[in-house]
Amino acid sequence: MIVLQTLVLQTLRGGSTIAGVPVVPPAHVQDLGDGCVAYVQPDGSWGWSNAGLVVGDGASLLVDTLFDLKLTRQMLDSFAPYVRTAPIRSLVNSHANGDHCYGNQLVEDAEIISSVAAAREMTEVPPAMLAALNADAGEIGELFRRFFGAFDFEGIEMKLPTRTFEGRLDLEVAGRAVELIEVGPAHTRGDVIVHVPDARTVFTGDILFIGGTPIVWAGPLSNWIAACDLMLGMDVDVVVPGHGPVTDKQGVVEVRDYLAYIDSEAKRTHSAGLDAFDAASEIARGMSVRSEPFAAWGEFGRVSVNVDTVYRSIDPTHRSPDVIEQFRRMAAIENQI
Ligand SMILES: [Zn+2]
Repeated sequence: MIVLQTLVLQTLRGGSTIAGVPVVPPAHVQDLGDGCVAYVQPDGSWGWSNAGLVVGDGASLLVDTLFDLKLTRQMLDSFAPYVRTAPIRSLVNSHANGDHCYGNQLVEDAEIISSVAAAREMTEVPPAMLAALNADAGEIGELFRRFFGAFDFEGIEMKLPTRTFEGRLDLEVAGRAVELIEVGPAHTRGDVIVHVPDARTVFTGDILFIGGTPIVWAGPLSNWIAACDLMLGMDVDVVVPGHGPVTDKQGVVEVRDYLAYIDSEAKRTHSAGLDAFDAASEIARGMSVRSEPFAAWGEFGRVSVNVDTVYRSIDPTHRSPDVIEQFRRMAAIENQI
């Protein structure tokens, strides 16, 4: 069922197929002009994150590393033509999820910057924990590999940020102004976006998923909606999401619409007395029936985490399930629709 669904979603997203099997294009460098570069990893689903590079006159800033060492090495090699005369001197981790920071150890001689909250959260999910889950022979390992089996967490030593900030940090990258703006808690507890005014470009980390469903681990949703509004008010043309293809403000509008829809639906189901998981199933079905544009997005089972986060923001005594159960519920919703 899930394979069929993936096929359908790939087709809806315009993905090509060979003998009915979806073909995911390889990761690639995308030159955005004005000394900004994106590294895009299709198809943007679980763990397939993007990174970015801001190239100054003699030094560069890297936005995020990738989920494992092999992928991060490939990305750094691909950036070689840009960093030959402008080596990476700063690395910003947009947030604490491993697909944005587990490759940090391969970036040498760079200051590593994140928000205080992200640096704190990075210590909570060590790579060795994911390596153990990937190797688990039981039901939990099977569930985990369904989401993250393509990655190799062996040998990763978490290299933590060396400089942290709260709110906002203005940097100069070899003559270029770069603004780091903390917009979390939203996707995680310490999300940061990276704005490059002279290139009219913003690297959003996981404040944007394009073609895939956003997942609100921390919330509240209102913070994430405010982050979308902040980006919509910026003088930017190029928007690099944490997952999925490079977009513009239209991509921001679509994510904002999704979050506003879930926020309002989950408030309705909460006041009707529905349990969070039943509510998520009902909301997912409703999106399909009404042919909402985001019903065709990948990883739509994330609605279950998102509804649960709304319930927690309405009622602080609401107890969210542990992360394994959250993954079970996402898989269940994707299987049942
Ligand atoms: Zn991510």
